[in-house]
Amino acid sequence: MRVRFAPSPTGFLHIGNARTALFNYLLAAHNKGEFILRIEDTDRERSKPEYIEQIFKDLGWLGIRWTEGPDIGGKYGPYLQSERTKFYKDYVKKLIDEGKAYYCYCTPEELDKDRQEQLAQGLTPKYSNKCRTLSDEEMAEKHRAGILPSVRFKVEGAGELTVDDMIRDEVTFALEQVGDFIIMRPDTTPTFHFAVAVDDGLMGITHVVRGEDHLTNTPKHILIMKACGFKVPRYAHMPLTMGPGGEPLSKRLGAMSIHEYRKLGYRSEALCNYMALLGWSPGDDRELFTLNELKEHFSIKRVSKSPAVFDKAKLDWVSGMHIRQMDENEFAQEILAFALDEKIISEEDYNTRPEWYAHILRIFRNNLSCYSEIKEKMQLFDTTIEYEDAELLKSEGARSVIAACEAILQEIDVIDENTVDNFLKSVKKRSGQKGKELFAPLRMAFTGKMHGPDLKEVMIILGRRGCLKRVQTVLYGEAKNGEGT
Ligand code: GLU
Repeated sequence: MRVRFAPSPTGFLHIGNARTALFNYLLAAHNKGEFILRIEDTDRERSKPEYIEQIFKDLGWLGIRWTEGPDIGGKYGPYLQSERTKFYKDYVKKLIDEGKAYYCYCTPEELDKDRQEQLAQGLTPKYSNKCRTLSDEEMAEKHRAGILPSVRFKVEGAGELTVDDMIRDEVTFALEQVGDFIIMRPDTTPTFHFAVAVDDGLMGITHVVRGEDHLTNTPKHILIMKACGFKVPRYAHMPLTMGPGGEPLSKRLGAMSIHEYRKLGYRSEALCNYMALLGWSPGDDRELFTLNELKEHFSIKRVSKSPAVFDKAKLDWVSGMHIRQMDENEFAQEILAFALDEKIISEEDYNTRPEWYAHILRIFRNNLSCYSEIKEKMQLFDTTIEYEDAELLKSEGARSVIAACEAILQEIDVIDENTVDNFLKSVKKRSGQKGKELFAPLRMAFTGKMHGPDLKEVMIILGRRGCLKRVQTVLYGEAKNGEGT
């Protein structure tokens, strides 16, 4: 099995096209086949070298590995379409020599006029094939007039062409709807269809997995491949990924680039897990997979025909679960590296109290969906505290809890892992409150929030003095929403 991912470097990889890369990679990996990276940079205007570089980086970060590609070569190279011009020219020549393609001298104006006429007659526009029958003399005349020809592929026969798609089953196209189409432009660059078909053929690609938007291109690719004498690969057209309202994924809605997710501190494995679930399911309700587990379980037969819907909340859930399932030390190292790299914690501050920071970072593990969230969460340890619900601290019951805290904190020496349980027991006893009546005011007073990291951990980090300060802010400061020191 030889499978390829063939991105056009006209933008950054986002969830949509990275998912295409992933499905190809999983198909190859599951079947012990080869996964090839080919860069389709025939659109010279829009293709940019920096996008190519970023594609390498993003795929590498995701854990997607290729065995042939522009950066590492391979025996079917080159793997940049812009370096394959010779092949396209050779095959165009071969098709012309065999009468399967011909020069077309129609100018854009002429083509447009024909199109308008067809539309006016209620017909679906299609090339009239008029240059098929030009005599040598007519061609020479056009040539003398300085008109540079394009090359058209001859679509012969009036039958049907059926694509046996691995996801969509049989899809049939009527050939009369496909007019003779251009395979080489007057400037001798190949069209997208021609380059794809010739490359898939020459590179011995056996399976093509790509977006459903390419399904209608497939008859053209098959016709070209057959005419050139290549073996036609199996195709699988994946449903597109839509936004929550059924609209195509836009930049605004989740089509964030892969490196933006990386920058936010999503783990690559979580992102792969989530992307795999966009259209694929293992057949039971399991949802969490490592990349190796995906390789083991993936099957193209289990890719759905209906569009996948991008769901940010689901991504965050999957991502949070991956963070919780990590090895503790690995988590500690990654989150610290992230916080320092992103300057959420300065090197200088960190060096003054490394254990304290390591402790803080650890307690948020159960409440994170990506590492950048740490920035906001760490505000919990700022000198000022903001209350999500200051009212909660005003009831008589709450005041008695907080007053008990103050009294006990003044009696004891430390709050640490050995004393915190006793402290809470004493507060319970002295205030006479229990359950929610006890814990909601404590949580609000110490963290300013209804939910969040483990209360005892927060108290240990704050220490006796920090805890006392927060308690006194409630009792004597102005405990209003969003205020209080
Ligand atoms: N270069 C095409 C794209 O980025 C992919 C073509 C293909 O997979 O056949 O959409």
